[in-house]
Amino acid sequence: MRYPDTANLPFNATLLGDEFIRGLPDQSPQGEGPYAVIMGGSLVVEETDGVCSLPRRLPAGWKSKSREPLFIGYWRGEPLRILRIGKDTVVEPPYSVEPFNAVKERLDDSLLTIGGLAQQILHWERLSRLCARCGVHTSRVRGTWGKQCPACGHEQYPAIHPCAIVLVKRHDEFLLIHKATWPEGRYSLVAGFLDFGESLEECAVREVREETGVAVSNVRYVGSQNWPFPSQLMAGFVADYAGGEIVVDTSEIEDARWFSPANLPGGFPPLRSIARWIIDRYALQHPEVSP
Ligand SMILES: [Zn+2]
Repeated sequence: MRYPDTANLPFNATLLGDEFIRGLPDQSPQGEGPYAVIMGGSLVVEETDGVCSLPRRLPAGWKSKSREPLFIGYWRGEPLRILRIGKDTVVEPPYSVEPFNAVKERLDDSLLTIGGLAQQILHWERLSRLCARCGVHTSRVRGTWGKQCPACGHEQYPAIHPCAIVLVKRHDEFLLIHKATWPEGRYSLVAGFLDFGESLEECAVREVREETGVAVSNVRYVGSQNWPFPSQLMAGFVADYAGGEIVVDTSEIEDARWFSPANLPGGFPPLRSIARWIIDRYALQHPEVSP
């Protein structure tokens, strides 16, 4: 099995194992190493004989002063630095731009995961430059990813946004949804952001009710996945159908319907997502044999 446990999914730390050792910008060592370069929702890689890797040298202009590369730890024993380049940057061979959500996957799971981490950290760096309370430029809190305001003393720390993602079961049937932005025929799980004053299980129940009109009970947690687009934590659940007919909330989704192993949709989300991990194990009960 490619992903025996949710811990082994891309974007979760276990996938990288010893390939990456975490560090912080204030521990930046001497010496050069590879770079994780983010451009929009893509990772810029260097390609040699069809194999993608993190670039070790950057073209002139990619390291301008406002884009000082940030040390975040050690990648395969060497200092790894991350930076964002503008979407209008000209990228020529041997460099290429590889989207994180590519239909045809060219990034292996390690590159996908380290690129996702770079993207998540750079998102936080951009959001935390100014104090959220008074707008003054912040400075780093040593030993953490936190930022402190020199004017009012306010401290801010990285915000990870929890979401519940839910498979609803009715005997051998399961409830999936389709959104207008997804590839035609692809169906996946109900998901949504945690609201104020809510547990994750309550979020799961509410999202299913809001998006599909269906009531659920017996909500069980089955695992989670970091989802750095830009900073979610997907908490996975399986729930039992408890009543109601499907009423699609067309402001959020395009369709919702019951499927079964004998009646599958035209497509599922990619293997690297917790959505697919849950569908394979709890809806089809045949890991990774689905389309
Ligand atoms: Zn302040």
